[in-house]
Amino acid sequence: MDYSIPPELAMFVDSVRQFREKELMPLEHEFLIKGSFDAKTRTELEEKARRQGFWALEVPEEYGGQGMGTLATCLVVEELFKHPAMFEFGGSPEPVLYKCNEEQKQRFLYPIIKADHRCCYAFTEPSGGSDVAAIHTTAVRDGANWVINGTKTFISYAERANFVILFASTDRERGARGITCFLVEKGTPGFSLSRSIPTMGDDWEPHELVFDDCVVPDANRLGDVGGGWALVNEQLTHGRLKIAAFQLGMAQRSIDIAVEWAKSRVTWGKPIASRQAVQWMLADSVTELDAARLLTYRAAWLADEGKPCETEAFMAKLYATEMAQRVTDRCLQILGGLGYSKEVPIQSFYRQVRVWRIGHGTAEIHRWMIARDLLGLSARD
Ligand SMILES: Cc1cc2nc3c(=O)[nH]c(=O)nc-3n(C[C@H](O)[C@H](O)[C@H](O)COP(=O)(O)OP(=O)(O)OC[C@H]3O[C@@H](n4cnc5c(N)ncnc54)[C@H](O)[C@@H]3O)c2cc1C
Repeated sequence: MDYSIPPELAMFVDSVRQFREKELMPLEHEFLIKGSFDAKTRTELEEKARRQGFWALEVPEEYGGQGMGTLATCLVVEELFKHPAMFEFGGSPEPVLYKCNEEQKQRFLYPIIKADHRCCYAFTEPSGGSDVAAIHTTAVRDGANWVINGTKTFISYAERANFVILFASTDRERGARGITCFLVEKGTPGFSLSRSIPTMGDDWEPHELVFDDCVVPDANRLGDVGGGWALVNEQLTHGRLKIAAFQLGMAQRSIDIAVEWAKSRVTWGKPIASRQAVQWMLADSVTELDAARLLTYRAAWLADEGKPCETEAFMAKLYATEMAQRVTDRCLQILGGLGYSKEVPIQSFYRQVRVWRIGHGTAEIHRWMIARDLLGLSARD
């Protein structure tokens, strides 16, 4: 790498590489054939990682974590996502949970950092995910409680979650400014998982959640009434940068495999690497990967400097997700039939990168936000 990554961070990322090679790679073939890790394997991997110090990396030191910044986090997930299992180290809560009050931190934040509790994050509804102001799930105050009604869909990791970070409308007239955030524990009467939704991604089956006169105490409200969208907006920027970094890992591994293959596969007496058609696919891929990397690292660096980086994060995620689609497609093509098979991970990357042009804001909404910033338009334009 020719940009300056601090030496101690580079060493840390190298230890992540060693973990991936030692613990994850031997399981790759099994993962590709089954399309998933069973819960036991995933838990064992998380435990091994924890014993090696890979735990709560992003958590500020004041909460007992390792206080890694955004750039460091991006480098770590880039390395991990060279394996198709989309495995991440545990103990890092959704950033919005740092906004909990002290009593809520004891119940919701610390158990994630210390005791491996999980949560999921529920915004999207059957009526749509992009138009946040139009959510239909309502929370109506009833004395010291709120009564929640509505349906959320495509909620990842709901089956493993101990609680859900739920966004509901407390004032439909006010659109996005009428959205409030609640922490709803599993087992709360009226809250259920109604069905799972199989997807084209390996090991990824989000759920539909139903809230039917679900009564939640006001003590479970996170932040101000009507302050839910502002809370989540902050966290989306961080999530977008991680997603951009996922693409770097998947694209890099696909290129590494394609380069090796192109050098060894011989047709008409010459390696296919000697053919311009193949060289151009590789040249375009590595150039676009580098561009995505620079966009991602720049935005992550800005985040670490405490500088505004919302638009830069939109650009990084938009470009990286579309780059990964093109790169995995070209690399699959270079491997021919083998690329389409489950003998190699490229087909898995090819399918998995697709979701990121949708989740955490679609590519179209990203373009809209970038243009809005460029043109100096307001949120209403
Ligand atoms: C595997 C998976 C996991 C997910 N996990 C979660 C989760 O954990 N929590 C959660 O809350 N959500 C989750 N989602 C939902 C995801 O965030 C939404 O799918 C996404 O926000 C888009 O919403 P939508 O699917 O309703 O599409 P819509 O909002 O209905 O959009 C449909 C199409 O119209 C386009 N479009 C919409 N409005 C405009 C506009 N103004 N201008 C131009 N184009 C527009 C969109 O870009 C898209 O192409 C997940 C989705 C998937 C597939």
